[in-house]
Amino acid sequence: MDAYVYQAVLWCADCTDEIKKDLAKAAGKSVDEMDDEMGDETTYDSDDYPKGPYDDGGGESDSPQHCDGCHKFLENPLTQEGMAYAQDAFIEALNADKDPDTTPSIAEWGPFYDLVDPIGRLTVAVEGSDADPFSVNFTVHGGNARHWAEANGAIAGGTWETAERNEHNFVYDSGNRYPGCYDKWREEGYDLDLSEAPSDDPLEDFRGLSEKELQEAFQRHKAIGLDTDTEMQNKIRKDLRDDGETGIEDAPNPKLFEGRVLAARLVRLAKKLMTIDTKI
Ligand SMILES: [Zn+2]
Repeated sequence: MDAYVYQAVLWCADCTDEIKKDLAKAAGKSVDEMDDEMGDETTYDSDDYPKGPYDDGGGESDSPQHCDGCHKFLENPLTQEGMAYAQDAFIEALNADKDPDTTPSIAEWGPFYDLVDPIGRLTVAVEGSDADPFSVNFTVHGGNARHWAEANGAIAGGTWETAERNEHNFVYDSGNRYPGCYDKWREEGYDLDLSEAPSDDPLEDFRGLSEKELQEAFQRHKAIGLDTDTEMQNKIRKDLRDDGETGIEDAPNPKLFEGRVLAARLVRLAKKLMTIDTKI
């Protein structure tokens, strides 16, 4: 974008037009007459009359340049030092949860200089899922979590959700847990808070158990609110078989199981009656 210099600062084209109009008016002339009168830029001082246009917002600088009048971003290239400055300012604004639409470092510098919202900037809290022993829930709280989520994509193949349309400091998601998943996500650069997380091995509670112990483990899961219905139990049983566990059959059909319990009760009752009968 073109930039102009007047009184030691940079101006956009529109503001420069206004300055020239004011200077011309004060001198009782038109802008064209003033331009003619000032002539070659090398002959006058930029303190007296605007000079320019200069390409690329005035050229490479140690900081992003804005018009001194209307604050329009002039899209100048940055030195290495300038890039480091812009990146720091960008992260600082995100952490402070500044309005992403009106804060220049987020809204303008970010996209223009491809500034990076690092994957480890915010902490992902991992918790067990109440609904599914194979799943974990992720929550991210912090300055502009939504920007962070958009910049870094999904964890574990999910999609980050936001609680409310305009809330940008909280996102959540869920994903499958599997042996090694936490290490993998850390390798991807995520900063994980595992203080409330279950083990990364969903089969841990079910390995090496007899059928009776397996049933008991499912009951324990039910007691803490995990929904281990027959379908889920069979999934766990299949995963255990796939994992090399032996002697793991599918869950007993609940109806068949009830029938067996009833039959066993009838047999006991009949035996009891027979005992009574014998006693009589
Ligand atoms: Zn301006």
